[in-house]
Amino acid sequence: MKLPTDPARNLAALIRCPSVTPAEGGALQALEVMLKPLGFSVERPVFAESGTPDIENLYARRSGNGPHLMFAGHTDVVPVGDEAAWTHPPFAADVANGEMYGRGAVDMKGGIACFIAAVARHIDKNGGPKGSVSLLITGDEEGPAINGTTKLLDWAAAKGEKWDASIVGEPTNPDTLGDMIKIGRRGSLSGSVIVNGRQGHAAYPQLADNPVRGLMSLVDALLHPVFDKGTKDFQPTNLEVTSIDVGNPATNVIPAKATATFNIRFNDTWDAETIQAEIHNRLDQAAGRKKYRPGKKTPVDYELVWRDRPSHVFLTRDDKLIGTLSASVAAVVGKTPALSTSGGTSDARFIKDYCPVVEFGLVGKSMHMVDERVALADLETLTQIYERFIEDWFGQDLA
Ligand SMILES: [Zn+2]
Repeated sequence: MKLPTDPARNLAALIRCPSVTPAEGGALQALEVMLKPLGFSVERPVFAESGTPDIENLYARRSGNGPHLMFAGHTDVVPVGDEAAWTHPPFAADVANGEMYGRGAVDMKGGIACFIAAVARHIDKNGGPKGSVSLLITGDEEGPAINGTTKLLDWAAAKGEKWDASIVGEPTNPDTLGDMIKIGRRGSLSGSVIVNGRQGHAAYPQLADNPVRGLMSLVDALLHPVFDKGTKDFQPTNLEVTSIDVGNPATNVIPAKATATFNIRFNDTWDAETIQAEIHNRLDQAAGRKKYRPGKKTPVDYELVWRDRPSHVFLTRDDKLIGTLSASVAAVVGKTPALSTSGGTSDARFIKDYCPVVEFGLVGKSMHMVDERVALADLETLTQIYERFIEDWFGQDLA
């Protein structure tokens, strides 16, 4: 039987499945077809929660005696956008000038295609790793992410699954393959500050309380001073005001309410609780300031509403995992990758509660764009890196 050793062939099969979140689109079925001949047992649990679409996921395991490596990723993709703007159709996997086009080519069907090819080659040459390999693949990473990785991890752990290390195959390289391994992520938190004022005539401000003035003091306090200067492993904490809403159509009316919404990306100086406390404290202090509200006797009347669940900051410290992956990259591409904690959140933030996790995949340049595509040469290189990693990571334990 022909094993799925060719990453381009694996990827073409996946791209041809139109798995825009929440649709399975045939992508998990295609994975099952690739994994079964490699000796994986495959399960495809469907998770549901009211108010969100049901999502099919996949957990595949190839059991052995030794440590357990988990590869994590997603087969769902973002919508294609303006389909007419694509040079090649988004679900055709056309190859032109050495690149394969298609939604998900780099984010992240390509990473999955390479990992499966790497395992297949290892089995072909060496009979497979001595330990266990599993793939934890969700269909809900680009969507609400409610019926995806968190539930899949809980579900697998409840069956007694334990992992020693995990690689998430998201596209981590900014420019060329081998640039960057992600070993952690900043935390993320969003909130809204709502200021209640008193509506009135713009010509008689003494009779009103303009909430925009109060909101300016509060927003000012969110932006200054800086939260920190960054740490050894992380960029500085940063807060962005993402929206200011008053919704007042009249130029001569002082509005009754004004809202500002913000998102903060915080480093390991903080945790979700301490950064929330810091923000509360800044707002409370600013509420009494007179800069924009001269003559007002009472402090700004405001509420702070936290939105969604916070994402926690994390940093992976596992020399075997990071060192082996780093050395595998260096051996194949001839340069040592940067170890970074930059960028947004990813499903690694959930996996870190179960085992050490790093992220390494393709070059991310074209992700989520029209004409998403991947160089065939990169598919081959990433497959070689993953294969080398599998050999060395399992090999170390046998030594
Ligand atoms: Zn992704």
